[in-house]
Amino acid sequence: MSIETKQEVLERILSQKKPLCRYCSEDMKLWEVPPFTFSDGLGWGTPYLYICFNDECPPYVQGWDDIQEKYAHNASCRCMCYPGTKQYEFIPVFSPVGATGQIIDDQVLAEQEALNLATKRGFEILTDAYMAKDGITLMRLLLDATEPARVRAKAAEMIGDVGSLEALEPLRSTKVGNQIIQKNMDAAVSKLHERHFTRECPFCAEVIKKRAKICKHCSKDVAGK
Ligand SMILES: [Zn+2]
Ligand SMILES: [Zn+2]
Repeated sequence: MSIETKQEVLERILSQKKPLCRYCSEDMKLWEVPPFTFSDGLGWGTPYLYICFNDECPPYVQGWDDIQEKYAHNASCRCMCYPGTKQYEFIPVFSPVGATGQIIDDQVLAEQEALNLATKRGFEILTDAYMAKDGITLMRLLLDATEPARVRAKAAEMIGDVGSLEALEPLRSTKVGNQIIQKNMDAAVSKLHERHFTRECPFCAEVIKKRAKICKHCSKDVAGK
């Protein structure tokens, strides 16, 4: 199952061309959809939209009068576009600064760029370590909380593929907050056992051979357990 993380969606959107407003031809701004606004249950089906925040944009200028006339509301609408499509719609705003809080500004984009770079660099190190079966470097990246989550999740996966049984203990004794990383760590434990024909004694938790009948550590009967 592969669900795009928000970061991946953002990366994908940023790699595409920025749309121009179809009404005023100004650059549209990337906008983060707030999670709570859409009580109609429809949602936008995307965590990001492009919105024209040009205050001279004709439908926006006109919107104040139109909506006042039709609904006696002080509101207008701004042109929005679904990233990666030519699908334009309008989004209601209730003041000139309405919705501007969710504009993804240069600061955020710079942070995203830094994260992308760190992720790229992390994956380069991971690839080298994987080729060299360097489990220590993989473990270091996995346990380093300052590494991007995607790098750490990948490190966990790779440890399952090329790591030694020594990786079991840190994998077992470390708990991480990120569910994807934790899931990959648990999967790596299973993979390590599978690759080394081992399992954990159900009594003392020491590593034993998969086909062991008596635990060599606690001497308990583990046949079929
Ligand atoms: Zn516009
Ligand atoms: Zn035992």
